[in-house]
Amino acid sequence: MGFLDLFGQWLEKRNEKRIEFAKSQGTCPECQGKGVNLLGMEQYTMSTFYVCSGCSGSGSFSDWVETN
Ligand SMILES: [Zn+2]
Repeated sequence: MGFLDLFGQWLEKRNEKRIEFAKSQGTCPECQGKGVNLLGMEQYTMSTFYVCSGCSGSGSFSDWVETN
């Protein structure tokens, strides 16, 4: 087993944990329930808020499941 395989497994485990946590909280794992994602360097201005594509802005885990 190579290093990349191990790294891939680690990432997968990490992602699973993130999703499990989000599920227990009932929040979208992509935006942590905020409904928006921050993009780019100017993350302190409102113009860089984007409606989360995972949950369509609702921030709920069930909506995220539907779109994924
Ligand atoms: Zn979301």
